[in-house]
Amino acid sequence: MARKKEDLNLNNIVNTQFDAAARHIKLQDGLLEQIKACSNVYYMQFPVKFGKKYQMIQAWRAEHSHHRKPLKGGIRYSRMVDQDEVMALAALMTYKCAIVDVPFGGSKGGVQVQARAYSREQLEKITRRLTAELIRKDFIGPGINVPAPDYGTGEREMAWIADTYDAFHPGDLDNMACVTGKPITQGGIRGRTEATGRGVVYALRELFRQPKELKRCKLAGSLEGKTVSVQGLGNVGYHAARILHEEDGAKIVAVGEWDGTIYNPKGIDIPALERHRKKTGSILGFPGTKKLGRPGDCLEVECDVLIPAALENQITQDNMKKIRCKVVAEAANGPTTPRAEAELTKRGILVLPDIFMNSGGVTVSYFEWTKNLSHLRYGRLEKRVDQAKLENLVASLENLVGHKFPKKKRQELIAGTDERDLVNSGLEETMICAFQEILEIRNRTKNVNDMRTAAYICAIQKVARGYLELGVFP
Ligand code: GLU
Repeated sequence: MARKKEDLNLNNIVNTQFDAAARHIKLQDGLLEQIKACSNVYYMQFPVKFGKKYQMIQAWRAEHSHHRKPLKGGIRYSRMVDQDEVMALAALMTYKCAIVDVPFGGSKGGVQVQARAYSREQLEKITRRLTAELIRKDFIGPGINVPAPDYGTGEREMAWIADTYDAFHPGDLDNMACVTGKPITQGGIRGRTEATGRGVVYALRELFRQPKELKRCKLAGSLEGKTVSVQGLGNVGYHAARILHEEDGAKIVAVGEWDGTIYNPKGIDIPALERHRKKTGSILGFPGTKKLGRPGDCLEVECDVLIPAALENQITQDNMKKIRCKVVAEAANGPTTPRAEAELTKRGILVLPDIFMNSGGVTVSYFEWTKNLSHLRYGRLEKRVDQAKLENLVASLENLVGHKFPKKKRQELIAGTDERDLVNSGLEETMICAFQEILEIRNRTKNVNDMRTAAYICAIQKVARGYLELGVFP
């Protein structure tokens, strides 16, 4: 008998994952339902004039939970975006923020446009109009709802949003905190662009400090020399691959993009690949690599770590039997369907879930938001004090041993802590703590042997605490 077709609706998938965890949690009547439900969705249709013609643009902003304020989540520009997807992604934001103790509710926005098909001017018009619509209905504001980049958007769009918001609220000191992921010159924070990718790497490093976990998925040692395949060389996939290549000595054997997959078993130089793409417009044809038939082939390459960093529903019942990695590190939101995950888990493949793995972005967004509200760059006060103390220490050490450090080493030793160091340190601490918490929940919860259910249990318990603190549920 033919197998029932798999349900690919992300909203249903997220709810299924939620239910699998909720079974293990006892809460007062109604609270689980409250946590699961999406509070409100704002649907917009607005006209934008391009040349002499008007085009109707469709957009959504979903607010999943209000247990903490403001609400937080990216804005996606994609032809495929619809209400269900935005609602599901907003729910994932709630769980993500809870897991990493970022005190926000979950939200998400989407505009149904393919960014690549529009000029810079057209995108600016769409973004500014979208912001005006959000302002009109109180769906944006430093204490209300704070968007960020997502698929198809980046710091340029965030700068337009901040500027439009500021124009509507002249004189409000905290305007910059209405959106995160801005350029550094306009209230952004160092390390935000690479934060999601860097978070993925910090999580993987923590996995490689857990010998028992590694054994379960037939791995050992460190990340050095491990083979990695990445789907999507966007902001998240690029930085995850680059950092693994540059800082951990991992071998990126395959990279997949919308127009194809490239493969080199000896490893691909990621910054050089990026330069090639900038020059030619595609990853294809990068010297030393072989082109594989279809874009999705990067998922089926034999490797230690597979990083889906594109969109949802990439590992499904159609290709689950062909996945040949030991760990799936979900950098994207919702890349693995429940049916595929069950199959991977059965085969001993470790799936590190999206709501944990890609939470580095919103974590650093939180740092950016607090920076904007404090009106002070991180490290500005302490950098020189640090430097003076270190200088003193190094000089004493040199006196004691009767040798001077080489000039470059000396410079490194006495460098004070700057914003990037602090951001990366906060991000690393966050990812390590969350990993350990999820692992601990998995190990102590009867009949739970996957990291996703454990991550949902962690999230649900923390969101419940939020509602209880609000006094919504006695
Ligand atoms: N869009 C990113 C995500 O899905 C970042 C959200 C944020 O920084 O608010 O996590």
